[in-house]
Amino acid sequence: MPARPVPGSLNWIMTFDTCGLNPSLIHAAAQQGWHAPTDVQTQAIGPGLASRDVCACAQTGSGKTAAFALPVLQRLTEATAPAPRRPRALVLVPTRELATQVGGEFMALARALPQRLKTAVVFGGVSINPQMLHLRGGADIVIATPGRLLDLLAHNALTLDAVQMLVLDEADRLLDLGFADELTQLLQRLPARRQNLFFSATFAPAVQALADSLLHDPVRVDVAAESSDQPAITQRAIHVDTHRRSPLLRHLLAEHDWDRVLVFVATKYAAEQVADKLRRVGLAAEPFHGMLSQGKRQQVLADFKARRIRVVVSTDLAGRGIDIAQLPVVINFDLPRSATDYIHRIGRTGRAGEPGLAISFVSAGDEAHFRLIEKRQGLPVPREQLDGFEPAPPAPATTSADPEVAAKPGTGGIKGRRPSKKDKLRAAAATISEAKAVES
Ligand code: AMP
Repeated sequence: MPARPVPGSLNWIMTFDTCGLNPSLIHAAAQQGWHAPTDVQTQAIGPGLASRDVCACAQTGSGKTAAFALPVLQRLTEATAPAPRRPRALVLVPTRELATQVGGEFMALARALPQRLKTAVVFGGVSINPQMLHLRGGADIVIATPGRLLDLLAHNALTLDAVQMLVLDEADRLLDLGFADELTQLLQRLPARRQNLFFSATFAPAVQALADSLLHDPVRVDVAAESSDQPAITQRAIHVDTHRRSPLLRHLLAEHDWDRVLVFVATKYAAEQVADKLRRVGLAAEPFHGMLSQGKRQQVLADFKARRIRVVVSTDLAGRGIDIAQLPVVINFDLPRSATDYIHRIGRTGRAGEPGLAISFVSAGDEAHFRLIEKRQGLPVPREQLDGFEPAPPAPATTSADPEVAAKPGTGGIKGRRPSKKDKLRAAAATISEAKAVES
């Protein structure tokens, strides 16, 4: 669904032509139904074409992918490919689904070019052999998740010594602790002289510092505020007791005729459980998380996009970059760990100029954490209570004999769930970023 240029905004007067794109790519954009650049494209395409480093902060759904894909493609067509053919552009993304989505956009745009550019999309969770086969004979553009790319390098399936352009999509996630080891290893394999294009909806202060250490005299693009392309997302917060969230979710699904709903939970176990409860009352619901096979993950997303499933109950796996056109509502059944994750989650709705709705279930124990999220996003969200779902009055002070339990309500953990090493690293990174943001 195209983002509509608004009269008076910058992109009303800008065209893809004035951004410096060549006729083939203007034609490619027109074939996608895009007739004018969005704000992030207006500001990032020119510097991208001029080989400048770019650090762009733009909401998801603002046309970010094309803001780096168009200049990358144009620059590749302007130079001759090395012989033998080796990747000249590397796009790193944090999730497999995003790799597929970004790859699709590159391939669709590249189809309109007179030169043939080969794009390879590689990610884990599927057999490595077809990817190695595809990389034989080389590729001009590689779109990859970091872990699988390292595996392919270990198999000598490709080299990165000819890479001229490095794109980090969802850069803040790639730069945080969870990917630190993998990213460090990859950066060591890349030429030091290269163009860096970093794009994300959020850059926490700690991550921004790390990004700055990798960028050379970057052009900074920030369309996070007051952009005509910004999604209009209404945010609601409903006070509810933890054990009443499932009935409240069913109530909301019955009350509203939303054709699709993305529900976020904290764990894989919760994703399975909540989806199962919904299925038992006849709703077309599926879980979505990292323990599912890649085939199942792709199937769930395809069914959701095609409206064959009404509700997807997901971990933060679906929080990043995934483009689901006209998704009317996102529900935070569990609050995310960080304000950054909150912004990414709610960015799944209200994409490309559509209105969106984000509802968060807030229990008494979540209240302090939700206040932190509000503070980080600089926008208060009014609390509501729904008839029949009012929280019980606060219990008298705890009498637990165990001081640990008394001090930390709700730390009993969730059955069947132990945080992985990566989870712990990511949680630590989120906490550090939060703390720094609050300090600053
Ligand atoms: P992204 O932020 O890259 O996920 O893009 C969000 C949506 O905006 C995608 O569905 C794109 O097809 C669409 N889009 C990208 N560029 C434009 C444009 N210039 N005009 C209209 N829609 C666009």
